[in-house]
Formats: sequence, C-alpha cells, structure tokens
Amino acid sequence: MEQAVKTTCPYCGVGCGVIATVGDGGVVSVKGDPDHPSNYGRLCSKGSALAETIDLDGRILHPEIGGEPASWDSALDLVAAKFSAAIAGHGPESVAFYVSGQLLTEDYYVANKLMKGFFGSANIDTNSRLCMSSSVAGHRRAFGSDTVPGTYEDLELADLVILTGSNLAWCHPVLYQRLAAAKERRPGMKVVVIDPRRTMTADIADLHLAIRPDTDVALFVGLFAHLVSNNAVDQNYVAAHTSGFAEAFAMAAGVSFGDVLERTGLPAMQLREFYRLFTTTKKIVTCYSQGVNQSSSGTDKVNAILNCHLATGRIGKPGMGPFSLTGQPNAMGGREVGGLANMLAAHMAIESAEDRDRVQRFWASPVIAEKPGLKAVDLFQAVADGRIKALWIMATNPVVSMPDAGAVEAAIKACHFVVVSDILKETDTARHAHVLLPSLGWGEKSGTVTNSERRISRQRAFLAAPGAARADWWQLAEVAHRMGFADAFAYETPAEIFSEHAALSAFENAGSRDFDIGIHQGIGHHTYDALTPFQWPQPAGQVSMETRFFADGGFYHADGKARFIAVEPAETDRTNPDYPFTLNTGRIRDQWHTMTRTGKSARLSSHIAEPFAELHPRDAIEIGVGNAGLVEIESPLGSAVVRALITERQARGSIFAPMHWNDQFAAKARIDAVVPSIVDRFSGQPASKNVAV
Ligand code: SF4
Repeated sequence: MEQAVKTTCPYCGVGCGVIATVGDGGVVSVKGDPDHPSNYGRLCSKGSALAETIDLDGRILHPEIGGEPASWDSALDLVAAKFSAAIAGHGPESVAFYVSGQLLTEDYYVANKLMKGFFGSANIDTNSRLCMSSSVAGHRRAFGSDTVPGTYEDLELADLVILTGSNLAWCHPVLYQRLAAAKERRPGMKVVVIDPRRTMTADIADLHLAIRPDTDVALFVGLFAHLVSNNAVDQNYVAAHTSGFAEAFAMAAGVSFGDVLERTGLPAMQLREFYRLFTTTKKIVTCYSQGVNQSSSGTDKVNAILNCHLATGRIGKPGMGPFSLTGQPNAMGGREVGGLANMLAAHMAIESAEDRDRVQRFWASPVIAEKPGLKAVDLFQAVADGRIKALWIMATNPVVSMPDAGAVEAAIKACHFVVVSDILKETDTARHAHVLLPSLGWGEKSGTVTNSERRISRQRAFLAAPGAARADWWQLAEVAHRMGFADAFAYETPAEIFSEHAALSAFENAGSRDFDIGIHQGIGHHTYDALTPFQWPQPAGQVSMETRFFADGGFYHADGKARFIAVEPAETDRTNPDYPFTLNTGRIRDQWHTMTRTGKSARLSSHIAEPFAELHPRDAIEIGVGNAGLVEIESPLGSAVVRALITERQARGSIFAPMHWNDQFAAKARIDAVVPSIVDRFSGQPASKNVAV
C-alpha cells in the first residue's frame, strides 16, 4: 500500500515542502507539497529529482576504524577515548567539531551543547560560515540580533525587487518562480539585478547593473548619500528607532556619484536610474546572497544595504525590507541553536556573562565556553598547526569546499585523530577519517529545518535506516554518555531534543530576545510528528501571528534602536600582471555543493555535464582558446582544469567557475584549490569571489 509523507527538500534555503510517496516495491516518488507556505506545491529540478539520489550506492553501512568494519560500541568508545584524552592532555581548545547546514536542528543542538556546555570550548564551526556568516554579523551589528525581518511574500508584494549577489533563478529556483509569477501578474513591478555576470536571473531584470566584483559597498553607500540629498529619509523612523545616522552619513558624504561610477564601472545613466528607482518606489525588497556574503567586505556590504532600508523606514512592512537569502536548507536552524563558533544557543551571545549563565543553568552543565571558538578558516589552520588533536566532521566535505582546499586536505590528513560522520564512503574528506560513522540520509532521518523566512518545517523519515546507519544526534549523545555526561544527553527521540531546544528559547525570555518558539516546549511525540510549518516567534501559550520584524522598531540592542553602521568602500581589485583575471565561483542550477548526492542523478548531470569556466569572447581570443577547449585556471595556491564556455554574459577580465566538481567527478577540477583563505574581518567568512587568477 502506498504511503505518502510530508517532508522538506534538503537542498537550498528556500525550504520547499515535499510529499514523498513510497509505492509498491519500495519505489519512491516526490512532488511539491501544495500546503507548504514556502513553495505552494512548486519544486525545482533538484527537488523533483530527489528520488533519483537516494539509492544505497556508495553508502557507508557500518562504522569503520582505520578502514576496517567495526561495531558501533568499539567506534564510539574510541571516539570518546580520543576526545577525552585530548581534553585531559591539552585542554578543551584542542578539540573541534566542523559541522554543516545539512544537519537537522536537533543534530546541531546536541553538537553545540556537547562542545560548548560539556567540553567547555566553542570550537564548533560549520560550513554555514562559508555561506551566511556575513549576514549574521551584519544583522547583529544593525539589529542587535540575527533576525531576518521579512517573509517570501514580501518579494511578491514589492514594487521594486533588488537582487544583489544572487543568481536566484539557479540558486533559489522556487523563490525565483514566485517572483517571476508575481512580475507576470503585475508587470509594473520592477526587478534590478546587481551582478558582475549576466546570469539567468538578469534575464527578467528591468535593469542589470554589471558592477565590478566587490563594489557593492560603494554602490549602496552612494545610494545612502543620494537618499539624504534627495530628502528621501524617513526622519520620524530614523529619530524614533535608530542611532548612528550622522556618523554613517558623514562617511557616505565623502563618496561622490563620480566615485561610485569609477569604482563600480557602471554607466552614469544606469546608476542614476537605480538611485531614482530606490528613491521614488515605496515598496522595496533588497535580497542578497553569496555575492554579498562571500567577500572580504561581506559584513560591510550587508550593513550598507541595511543602512538604506533603515534610512527610509522600509523594513518589516508588507513588501518592504532587506532580505538575506540563506544558501543551505538549515543554515538558519544552525544559527538558532548556536552552531557557529561565535554564538551560544537560542540566539544568545557568547560574549554575554548573563547569557552564558542562563544557558549553563538551563543545561546544568559543568562548564560553559567563555569565548568565541575558531571560525572555519582558523579552525583548519589550527588543525594544520597541530593545535587540534581531535576533529569531528559531520555532513560536509571541506576537502572540496573550503578555500585553499589543498592545504585543508593536507591538514586533515596530518591530524592526530579525525572522525567523519557522513552517508557516503568515498568523499574526498571521508577517505582521510580514522573513524568513519554511518549517518542517516534524507528520507531516513527525522527532525526540523529552518528556511530563509524563519519557517521551521519537519523533515520526516519514510525509508528504513540502511545497514547500521544512525542519526547524527544519536552518535553525539552516545559519545557524551561515554564521556560521563549521560544525564544531559539521555535522548531517545528527536522530539525530545526539539522540545529542549524550544524550552531553552523560552527560558527566562519575556520577549527580550528575538528567538522564541516556547509554544512548543514540552512537546510530545504526537505533536512533533504532526508539526506543520510555522515561523518563529511562537511565544509560549499563544499563537503568534507576527511574521515581520521592526516596522515599529523593537530592535534588540539594549536601547531598542537599530544602528546605522559607517561603512567605507574598500580597495577591491586584486589582479596583477601575473594573475590578470578575476574569478568568481558559484552554483549551477542542477548540482548541489560537492555533488555527492545530485551527482547520482543522470537527469541533473545532463544539464551541465562538465566543469567549466565562463570567459568573455575577446578574452578567449587573447588567450587563444576556443569554445569547449581546456583552460587551466591558476592562482599562487594551485590550479584547476576545466572547459572554456565562451559567452558575452561574462564581463571582460572576469571568469566564472562552479564550485561543485571535485576529483571524484573530473580530474583536477576542484576550484577551491585556487581560492585563497582571505576572510571578512567581522564574520570570518571566506571571500570565495573576486580571486585573482
Ligand atoms: Fe529544494 Fe531549493 Fe529547489 Fe525548493 S528551490 S525544491 S528547497 S532545491
């Protein structure tokens, strides 16, 4: 008999609802969930191919120690013994977890609790560092908390949608479909795309601003100055709900229209038109994604955008606001449980003694991390230096995805003790594990994820666990038991973990913090199983109808006001005579991250079959390469060999190459081997764009 289960797509941060049906003979089919308020039944190519990516080929089915099959007991005993020995011999800073936006919130919660509350270190970072951390830092600077003010519906209600550093059509396809449908219904709606490359998203734009890489700060600082000089500031909003306006304006006033033209390389007519549209349109949403975040000035870019929305009071109202588009399915859930090295839990701050005390009392934990831990790039540097003696990597493939990937691989290879929890045995990272632990994949695991509009949805199991595979939270709890923390990790189900997470969000929280899902504290199995998608906040004892933040202020700085941040355009050109091209990396439509799952689908792979680099036709002539010829992309760190795709979508002097391919799929195609470990100084997010090659 057929069994249909409502679950959530595991790929991008749109977080679409999926109905998975297991038919006779175990054949799985998927379709969009018409009742899910984030996608209303839509799915993109990746989501609709989910059933093609869940076979057991290449799966880890049993724990392994040193490449040999082992029992769970012996593997977990060894992990516990090695972490205990490292902490006893070298202190809590000698161990680290590197986790992932692929983890469910419950897995993330347990990992964060174990590291920060029981090991006493904050050395837990995540591949969300590569994805969202500049937005987190920008939100916290401006709002006092990491809060996304709006909802997806705002993109449909706006009269002007600005997409900066976002190839929405390929990276958040269902949200793009919603936007495109809204624009068709209301042709008066304008779309502006800001991107050095003419992407598929730019094809629906009324205005495409092909700025030079990393010049977004100049563009939005110039806009801020333009708004002031054209009397477009909402003086009442600024006076009542913000501070720091004068300082931010003093900085912006030093950036003239001519400066912006020079830095961005835009024609004056286009720049004037963009500023006019922003000044004269009431309902504006500005979406930003990895072109903003993955930059050495990512946090400043975010604040330059937020300054313009705060100055005009266009925030938290229908069809108005800045909107950070999350890359991964659960990058937001990870932020909620404090899965970043510089956050605590339930959006509380590691730097705050009061917050640390509150969390420690709630957990009844022996210690609490007192300072931020190592962020991803620093974490792997510490592995390379030998400061990290025991490392646990969960659900991610840093040997392919981290910048300076070759050095990261060498560091992991040389590390004293490495545990990898994953579903696939032959990833570039898993092959360096001393202990390999088989995790559950999509369709097998149960828990929750939070998407870009703060909507918490269930992922539900509808397939049996293959072999001896177990949930990531279970693996962590079993290690905690063996290290003497049995009482605090006595979980039997993900429902119990979610319930504890919800209770922590509500603990001593009378609306003073932004994150509250207290309504679900003490949740039972039945309620958890039946949970329908909901947005936080959901205060204890009532159903919140609030879906937007900050229309009437209520920011999370102590004085309740938002902060304008004085930001200054930085030098952005990294090229030199030896490395004269600028490389931008990014996603393609039909692959996900390092292709370990989507690479299994012949249908998805037929969209673009090989790694490539987009080049402008005149650059191709100059370097003597024809379409589909091979090009070697080289930086001082390494090189990658890919096909040339010659197109006028690319600006002269620029190259785009996808991030997905690795040596498993094509020899020498690992583009992150070329990308240096330059990071944003506030967020620690690597600059995966604007690389001199
Ligand atoms: Fe999945 Fe994102 Fe596609 Fe939705 S848009 S189906 S969440 S990959």
